[in-house]
Amino acid sequence: SADLAMYAAKAAGKGTVQVYREDLLRQAQERLRLENHLRHAARREELRLEYQPVVDARTGSVAGLEALVRWEHPSWGTVPPGRFIPVAEASGTILVIGEWVLRTACRQAVAFAHDHGVDVAMSVNVSVRQLQADGFVEVVADALATSGLAPSLLTLEVTESLFMAEDPAVGAVLGELGALGVHLSIDDFGTGHSALARLRVLPVSELKIDRSFVRTIGSDGDCGPLVTAILAMARALGLSVVAEGVETAEQLAALRDAGCDRLQGFHLARPMPAEDVARLLAGQPGG
Ligand code: C2E
Ligand code: CA
Ligand code: CA
Ligand code: CA
Repeated sequence: SADLAMYAAKAAGKGTVQVYREDLLRQAQERLRLENHLRHAARREELRLEYQPVVDARTGSVAGLEALVRWEHPSWGTVPPGRFIPVAEASGTILVIGEWVLRTACRQAVAFAHDHGVDVAMSVNVSVRQLQADGFVEVVADALATSGLAPSLLTLEVTESLFMAEDPAVGAVLGELGALGVHLSIDDFGTGHSALARLRVLPVSELKIDRSFVRTIGSDGDCGPLVTAILAMARALGLSVVAEGVETAEQLAALRDAGCDRLQGFHLARPMPAEDVARLLAGQPGG
């Protein structure tokens, strides 16, 4: 940080330029600090998972859970994933964190199923870096084997940009994952520009409509041309559709009436600790 201080001194100009540079410096230092702490977070048991229910649009029952990672830093408090996941991806720490998330979520799904006598489908977010790392398929296979979770109950959510990059290595990994029997979901669908042809060749079974499209659904009961088109396309390709970020009753009704399969959002349920999920499952028919 002596170098950084020198840089700051050199950068000391005047007015807004100086403020801007000090800002950049602060950001760089903040990032470094975050990265250092993050490296120890998994080992020190500072990470935990919350689970957000995904709800069947027709029946209203819990169709599955999405695992969302949380970082409780002993002195900074809760650091949101939007802050630390990009840092973890840049530094490679995402490999350690991602494996911990995967194994924990699989174990928890089996524990829920055991306690409540129902199958619990679990969705886990996977970073591009994980898919590109050696041995990822083996890690997934081992997480399933050691937890005892049936492959068909695990969905891996991958962001749309990954499917766009026509990387043959990534294509091969996705093929192997499909062969394992896990489901693949395209997260934040609609924000990239999916090559539609690739949707047919890859073993994808689900699209998750990004919440930026759900947000624009108003009170007129109309999903808008884009969501309508995505739903029609998904139906034609035999893919199921989850809408995320459902915050109002109007959005829920419009999406359900348009034939969306499953819904996720604060209007239905927020991400919650495992104890609260257990209470929810216990209250369900068959739970
Ligand atoms: P995502 O995968 O798109 O996850 C959905 C995010 O939307 C979650 O934010 C969730 O809390 C939030 N959300 C759900 N319903 C609503 C709603 O009705 N309104 C609004 N405004 N927000 C809603 P969260 O938990 O902060 O996670 C942010 C992102 O961090 C995730 O976006 C995902 O990209 C990433 N992330 C979270 N956990 C993991 C993980 O274990 N591994 C990886 N690689 N990424 C993760
Ligand atoms: Ca997701
Ligand atoms: Ca998403
Ligand atoms: Ca999103």
